[in-house]
Amino acid sequence: MEGRFKSNKSFLGYDSMKKDLMEIICCPTCKGDLALTVEKEEENEIITGSLSCGKCNVDYTISEGIPNLLPKNSN
Ligand SMILES: [Zn+2]
Repeated sequence: MEGRFKSNKSFLGYDSMKKDLMEIICCPTCKGDLALTVEKEEENEIITGSLSCGKCNVDYTISEGIPNLLPKNSN
Protein backbone atom coordinates (compact mmCIF):
# COMPACT_ATOMS: atom_id res chain seq x y z
CA MET A 1 0.00 0.00 0.00
CA GLU A 2 2.89 2.37 0.72
CA GLY A 3 4.34 1.96 -2.73
CA ARG A 4 1.17 3.12 -4.32
CA PHE A 5 1.35 6.48 -2.59
CA LYS A 6 4.83 7.15 -3.91
CA SER A 7 3.68 6.82 -7.49
CA ASN A 8 2.67 9.54 -9.88
CA LYS A 9 1.08 12.57 -8.37
CA SER A 10 -2.29 13.67 -9.56
CA PHE A 11 -3.99 17.03 -9.28
CA LEU A 12 -2.57 19.10 -6.44
CA GLY A 13 -0.37 16.23 -5.39
CA TYR A 14 -3.16 14.04 -4.09
CA ASP A 15 -2.93 10.42 -5.08
CA SER A 16 -6.28 9.44 -3.75
CA MET A 17 -9.22 10.86 -1.93
CA LYS A 18 -8.94 9.68 1.63
CA LYS A 19 -11.34 11.00 4.20
CA ASP A 20 -8.32 12.35 6.07
CA LEU A 21 -7.82 14.75 3.19
CA MET A 22 -10.93 16.61 4.24
CA GLU A 23 -8.88 18.15 7.05
CA ILE A 24 -6.45 19.80 4.67
CA ILE A 25 -8.43 20.18 1.50
CA CYS A 26 -10.21 23.43 0.78
CA CYS A 27 -11.88 25.34 -1.99
CA PRO A 28 -9.26 26.44 -4.54
CA THR A 29 -11.17 29.63 -5.14
CA CYS A 30 -12.13 30.96 -1.71
CA LYS A 31 -10.09 28.62 0.52
CA GLY A 32 -13.27 27.80 2.38
CA ASP A 33 -14.43 24.45 3.68
CA LEU A 34 -15.81 21.90 1.27
CA ALA A 35 -18.75 19.62 1.93
CA LEU A 36 -18.14 16.01 1.01
CA THR A 37 -20.75 13.86 -0.67
CA VAL A 38 -19.82 10.21 -0.99
CA GLU A 39 -21.31 8.10 -3.74
CA LYS A 40 -18.94 5.16 -3.47
CA GLU A 41 -16.22 4.43 -0.97
CA GLU A 42 -13.82 1.60 -0.20
CA GLU A 43 -11.76 1.25 2.97
CA ASN A 44 -11.91 4.90 3.98
CA GLU A 45 -11.16 6.10 0.48
CA ILE A 46 -13.73 7.96 -1.53
CA ILE A 47 -13.89 6.47 -5.01
CA THR A 48 -16.70 8.53 -6.41
CA GLY A 49 -18.40 11.58 -5.03
CA SER A 50 -18.19 15.31 -4.93
CA LEU A 51 -16.86 18.23 -2.92
CA SER A 52 -19.03 21.29 -2.84
CA CYS A 53 -18.33 24.84 -1.77
CA GLY A 54 -21.33 26.64 -0.37
CA LYS A 55 -19.72 30.05 -0.78
CA CYS A 56 -18.87 29.63 -4.45
CA ASN A 57 -21.80 27.34 -5.16
CA VAL A 58 -19.52 25.02 -7.09
CA ASP A 59 -19.20 21.24 -7.06
CA TYR A 60 -15.89 19.50 -7.61
CA THR A 61 -16.14 15.91 -8.67
CA ILE A 62 -14.22 12.97 -7.28
CA SER A 63 -13.69 10.33 -9.95
CA GLU A 64 -11.80 7.05 -9.60
CA GLY A 65 -10.51 8.21 -6.23
CA ILE A 66 -9.08 11.47 -7.48
CA PRO A 67 -10.54 14.85 -6.54
CA ASN A 68 -10.63 17.28 -9.41
CA LEU A 69 -10.11 20.59 -7.66
CA LEU A 70 -9.45 22.77 -10.65
CA PRO A 71 -11.14 26.15 -10.32
CA LYS A 72 -14.07 26.38 -12.69
CA ASN A 73 -14.05 30.10 -13.22
CA SER A 74 -11.09 30.12 -15.59
CA ASN A 75 -13.15 30.09 -18.76
ZN1 LIG B 1 -15.26 28.43 -2.56
